[in-house]
Amino acid sequence: MSLQSPIEPVTGEFDVVEWIRQQAGEDANVALGIGDDAAILKLPPGRELVITTDTLNAGIHFAHNAPADTVGHKSLAVCLSDLAAMGATPRWVLLSLSLPSMEPAWIESFIKGFLSLSKEFGVTLIGGDTCSGELAINVTALGLVEPGKALTRKGACPGDLVVVSGRLGDAALALARMSDGESPAESGLQALHKPMPRIALGTSLVEKATSCIDISDGLLADLGHVVLASACGAVIDVENLPAGPELLSCESEHRWHLQLTGGDDYELCFSIAPGRTAVLEQLSAELGLALSVIGRMVEGEGVTCVKPDGQVLELDLAGYQHFK
Ligand code: ADP
Ligand code: MG
Repeated sequence: MSLQSPIEPVTGEFDVVEWIRQQAGEDANVALGIGDDAAILKLPPGRELVITTDTLNAGIHFAHNAPADTVGHKSLAVCLSDLAAMGATPRWVLLSLSLPSMEPAWIESFIKGFLSLSKEFGVTLIGGDTCSGELAINVTALGLVEPGKALTRKGACPGDLVVVSGRLGDAALALARMSDGESPAESGLQALHKPMPRIALGTSLVEKATSCIDISDGLLADLGHVVLASACGAVIDVENLPAGPELLSCESEHRWHLQLTGGDDYELCFSIAPGRTAVLEQLSAELGLALSVIGRMVEGEGVTCVKPDGQVLELDLAGYQHFK
C-alpha cells in the first residue's frame, strides 16, 4: 500500500492525527470521520452493530523491536478476528496510540501495516486517540450483522462436531524457537506477526455454526469458554489437530501441547450439527481454507483431550492468562 504523502515534518500529536486523517479514505456511511470530538455513522437499516476492543502492550503482546508494520497489521487483525468469530462484517475501526516518543518512521510504517489490512477488508478508520506514554495500541472495531444472527460462544449441543480452520500451533512454535535462540520458519513468523482474521469464514458460518470463538489464547482455553457458555463438554482427538510441516516434525506430545495451549493462532473454532459435513466441505472449497473436525461436543463439562491410543492427554497449562 502506498501512503498519500510522507509524514514528515511532524512536531506533535496534531500533525500525526492530520496525517493519519489523510490516509484514512472515504466511506459513504461515515457522516463525520476523524477531526471532530467524535465520529458519526449512518447505520444501514436492518443491521445490528457488533463492537469489540483489544489492547496490545509492547513487551507483552509484541516485542519492543517488532517491525512497526507488523505491529500495525496485528493490532487490527486480532480485533477483526473477534468480529469474525461473531459472524459480523467489519466496517469501522478506532485506533488509540500511546507512544513513548514521536518517531515518524515508526508511525508511518505502523499505519501502513494497519491500513493495508483495513483496506483489504473494507474497514474505515473513523477516529481514535494519540497520546504519549508507554508503547501501547488500542483498537476498537465495529461490524454489522443481521439482527439476532451473530454467532456466540453459547449454543453448542452434545453431538455437534468441533471444527477449526487453518492450522494450529505455528505461532506458538515460532515463539518457542525464538525464546530458545533459534530462528523460526518463515511460515511461523508469518503466523506470529501477520495473522489473517477469518472474516469470510465467520460470515459464512452464520445460521450454520451453533457456536463460534476465535483462538487467541490457545484452543484449550478458548474452547473451554465455549463449553462453559454452552453448558456442555468437548472431547478432542489430538491427532486430528491440523499442523504444518514444522510442527509435524516435532515430538508428538510437544506438538499437541503447543497446539492446545499456545496462543496467537487467530483461527476460528466452531461447532456444527453432525449431519452437516457436506457444508464443511463446500465452505472449505469455496474459501480455500482447511476446516478440520477435531472432536465433538458431549454431555458434561470441560475439554478432554484424547491421544491416538485412547489415553487422556494431561496438560498442565491451559492458555495465556494475564495476572497469573
Ligand atoms: P479530543 O482531544 O477532543 O479527544 P483528539 O485531539 O484526541 O480530540 O482527536 C481529534 C480527532 O482525531 C478525533 O476525531 C479523533 O477521533 C481523531 N484521532 C486522534 N488520534 C487518532 C488516531 N491515532 N487514529 C485515528 N484518529 C485519531
Ligand atoms: Mg482524544
